Amino acid sequence: MAEKIFIVEDEKSIARLLQITLEREGFKTAIEPNGRRAYERILQEKYDLVLLDVMLPEMDGMEICKRVREVSDVPIIMLTARDEVMDKVEGLDFGANDYVTKPFAAPELLARIRGTIRRHKERLRGVEDTRYVVKNMILYPERYEVTVKGELVTLTHKEYELLKYLVENKRNVLSRDQILQKVWGYDYIGDTNVVDVYISYLRSKIDDKFGEKYIYTTRGVGYAIRD
Ligand code: CA
Repeated sequence: MAEKIFIVEDEKSIARLLQITLEREGFKTAIEPNGRRAYERILQEKYDLVLLDVMLPEMDGMEICKRVREVSDVPIIMLTARDEVMDKVEGLDFGANDYVTKPFAAPELLARIRGTIRRHKERLRGVEDTRYVVKNMILYPERYEVTVKGELVTLTHKEYELLKYLVENKRNVLSRDQILQKVWGYDYIGDTNVVDVYISYLRSKIDDKFGEKYIYTTRGVGYAIRD
């Protein structure tokens, strides 16, 4: 199915050139010259990617991008005129996926569009496909999230990394050394006791809190997570 690109550009000749370039490559397109209207259409209609000019009537591209990002992760490529605002756009994070400067070269623009759409799809697939389930716990690696019985568990970075390592190796007993190397790194200098301490943090946040046993100790060997 052809991907649909939303061209938000108030200069008619540029909008038309973009449209011809994209449709020749098999994309579907829609054009909107007004900023405020473009913002509304991005929220209401379904596009695979938005090409967003910066200087627009009624609402500028950066404002649109910022507002859209509050509710949508639709891929956005900003179109910027090199002299005007490139520095400003580059220096600030509005949540755009990429930037292309005008006047643009068609092959570069098309490559950016295809790359952005591909990465977005990969990300979506990742979110949907990759998840680890242990009893009532689900770990979503792409989102850095863990839920137990549908409730979000707040973990520190190290707690999360430790839990992820255990979950990825469900049922396997992992030694303290293995855990140290994987979670704290080969150059970690310190007590292996840190593993036990973090295991106890996880137990209190998960096993104890939800009244269900996840993390098992194999004496003298290490730890495992089991269904
Ligand atoms: Ca403009």
